[in-house]
Amino acid sequence: MSAQKGSINVTSENIFPVIKKFLYSDHEIFLRELVSNAVDATQKLKTLNVVGEYKGSLNDLNVEIRIDKEKGTLTVADHGIGMTADEIEKYINQIAFSGAEEFLEKYKNDANTIIGHFGLGFYSAFMVSSKVEIRTKSWKENSPAMMWSCDGSPEYAMEEIEKEDRGTEIVLYIDEENKEFLEKARVETLLKKYCRYLPVPVIFGKKEEWKDGKMQETDENNVVNKTEPEWTKAPAEMTDQDYINFYHDMYPMAGDPLFWIHLNVDFPFNLTGILYFPKINNNDFNRNKIQLYCNQVYVTDSVEGVVPEFMMLLQGVIDSPDIPLNVSRSYLQSDANVKKISGYITRKVAERLQQIFNDNRQDFEAKWDDIKIFIEYGMLSDDKFYDKAQKFVLLKNTDNQYFTLEEYKKLIEDNQTDKDGQLIYLYANDREAQYSYIENAKAKGYDVLLLDGQLDNHFIGMLEQKLEKSHFVRVDSDIIPNLIKKDDIRKSELNDDERRIFSQMFKSQIPTIEKTEFIVMFEAIGENEQPVIITQNEFMRRMKEMQGMQPGMSFYGELPDSFNLIVNTDSKVIKSVLENAKNTLSSEVDPINHDMSEKNSQAEKLREQNKSKKEDEISITEREMLKELENEVAALKTKEDSIVDKYAASEPKLRQLIDLSLLANNMLKGEALNNFIKRSTSML
Ligand code: ADP
Repeated sequence: MSAQKGSINVTSENIFPVIKKFLYSDHEIFLRELVSNAVDATQKLKTLNVVGEYKGSLNDLNVEIRIDKEKGTLTVADHGIGMTADEIEKYINQIAFSGAEEFLEKYKNDANTIIGHFGLGFYSAFMVSSKVEIRTKSWKENSPAMMWSCDGSPEYAMEEIEKEDRGTEIVLYIDEENKEFLEKARVETLLKKYCRYLPVPVIFGKKEEWKDGKMQETDENNVVNKTEPEWTKAPAEMTDQDYINFYHDMYPMAGDPLFWIHLNVDFPFNLTGILYFPKINNNDFNRNKIQLYCNQVYVTDSVEGVVPEFMMLLQGVIDSPDIPLNVSRSYLQSDANVKKISGYITRKVAERLQQIFNDNRQDFEAKWDDIKIFIEYGMLSDDKFYDKAQKFVLLKNTDNQYFTLEEYKKLIEDNQTDKDGQLIYLYANDREAQYSYIENAKAKGYDVLLLDGQLDNHFIGMLEQKLEKSHFVRVDSDIIPNLIKKDDIRKSELNDDERRIFSQMFKSQIPTIEKTEFIVMFEAIGENEQPVIITQNEFMRRMKEMQGMQPGMSFYGELPDSFNLIVNTDSKVIKSVLENAKNTLSSEVDPINHDMSEKNSQAEKLREQNKSKKEDEISITEREMLKELENEVAALKTKEDSIVDKYAASEPKLRQLIDLSLLANNMLKGEALNNFIKRSTSML
C-alpha cells in the first residue's frame, strides 16, 4: 500500500477542539489512556494466544514509556496485537467506532481482562501534542507495518514503514504548553498514579542505583507497576500480613489498618477490591481515599456515589469494569449498576463486621473505639446498614465494658425501668467532669454508659426512635431519684414562706457565671446524698446542643444554659443551715411575712370577686386597689430579700455548699474558685 492522505471522519472534525479543551479537564489523563490502550492490545494478544488464533511467540509483552527531550517526544510502545491499515482506518479514522467493543463481542468469554471502554481514549493524545504518530505492525501475518500521523487538524497521513517487531508505538510530539510531560519526574509521578497496578509490566527507563557517590542507571528495567495487586488474588491465598503490606503499599504514610474486607463478586456485576478500616485520628481525616480502578487502571479517588457516603471514611480499592467511568458524577449516581454496587458494598461491609464480631469479639472490642464513628455514621445514614449493625454495634459503659444492644437491655432491664415502663439508659459524655454523678448513679446500682463520641448525640436520638420504650438520660440531668422515677418522690416539707426565703438565700450566693442561670429547688433526696446538687435538664440541654450544631445560632442556641441547683432538705448540713437561718431571721422576717400574706389574701379576694367580670366592668377604685396591693407585696418582698441577702452574705457555709456543688460540676472557675480556696482555708 502506498502513502495515503485522508481526512478523519466528519464527526471528528467537531470533536477535535472539544478533546483538546474540554473533554478532560486534566490533561495528564492522556497517559492513562495511551498506556491503557497498550495494555489492552497486549491482553488481546494473550487472549488470541489462549484461544489458539495467535501461535507466535509471546515473549516481551511489556509496555514501555520513553521520553526524548531533544526530539520533544513521549512514546508509548507495546508488543500487543498492533493494527493493520484497515484497522487504523476503522478504529482510528472513524473515531466514533470502538475496537474494544467489537472485540469483546467476539471473545466474550475470554476477554474479561480487557480494559473497558474509555471513550475517546487515543485522541486524548492531542490534548498535549502538536503531532501524533502511530507506528504499528499487526500480529496478522503478511500485514505491512504502518505509520499514521496527524497534527491535530482533521487531515491525517498514512504510509507503510519498516518495523521489525509486532505491536504499536504511539509517538507524541509534545506541544509548547505541555513540556512538563517531557520531565522524567513528572511522568514517573503520573505512572505511579495511573499505572501502579496495571496487569502488564510497564517500563519507564532503567532502575537506578547509588554507586560511586551518585545515582546511576543499571541495566535492569524500571518496572513501575505491580501486575498482580492483592485485590486480584483469591482471599484464601492472602495472609493478614499480605493485607497489611498492601495497605502500606497504597498509603505509605498511614499506620496499620484496623480491619479489611476483600470484595469479590461477579454477579450481577463485576467487582473486586479491598476496603480498609483506617485508624481515624482527627487530623488526617479522609486524606487517603478509596481509589477506583477499572481492570487495574486507576480511574479516580472521587468515589462519591459509588460507595455509600458513610463509607467514604474507608480506604483501599474498588475495581469494576461495570462502573461507567468517563461520565459526570450526577450520571454516576443515578446509574442502576452503581446503585447496586453501593448496596452490595454496604451489605458486604456489614457482613464482614458481623463476622469479625462473631469470630473474635475481644479484638472487635479492642478496636471498637476506633470504628465506632464509622458504624454510628452508617447506622444513622443507612437503614439497611442499621438493620445489620444493630446486632454488633456496641455500647461501652463507664467501666469500659462493652455490650451489644441486646445484652445491655438485659443488663439494665430490671433495675432501670421507671414507673411508666420506660427503660432508662443513663449515660455520661465526660467521665472526668461527671465523675460524682456517675459514682452516685453506680452507688444506686445503676449502670452508666459512656457516650462521648462526635456522633453520639445523634446516635442517642436515633436509638430512642428505634428501640421501644427507651429513653436516654445523662447522669447529671437530674437528681438520682428523678433520673429513673420509680415511685412518687417525697416532697420536702417546706411551707411557701420558707421556700421563698431559702430560695432567695441560696440564689443570692450563687456566683455569676456568664450565659448561665440557676433555678433553686428543694428536694428531699435522702440523708446520705449530697447537700447541694447541680443538674441540667436533659431536654433543654439536648435542644441547645442540637441547635448549636446548626449553622446560624437559633432560638435555643441563644438561650443561656439553665441549671437546677437542688438543695437536699434531708441532708444534715442543710437541715442545720436552714434551721439557723430560720432562727436568726424570724424576728425580722416574720412580721414582713405576716404583712405579705395579709396583702396577698386581700388581693386574692379582690381577684376572686372580679373573676367573672370583664376588664372594663371592674371599677377604677378596685383596679387601683389591686395595683396598690401588688406594689405593696413587691415592696415587702424587696425588703425581705435585702434582709435575707444580708444574712446569706454573713453565713459562709451557704456559699461553701454552693461552691462545692459547682466544683463537683467543673463550674467553679477563676475568681470564684480563688475565693472558695481562701474561704476553705479560713474555715479550717
Ligand atoms: P477505545 O480504547 O475506547 O476503544 P481508543 O480511541 O482509545 O478507544 O482506541 C480506539 C481503538 O484503536 C481501540 O479500540 C483499538 O482497537 C485501537 N488501538 C488503540 N491503541 C492501540 C494499540 N496500542 N494497539 C492496538 N490497537 C490500538
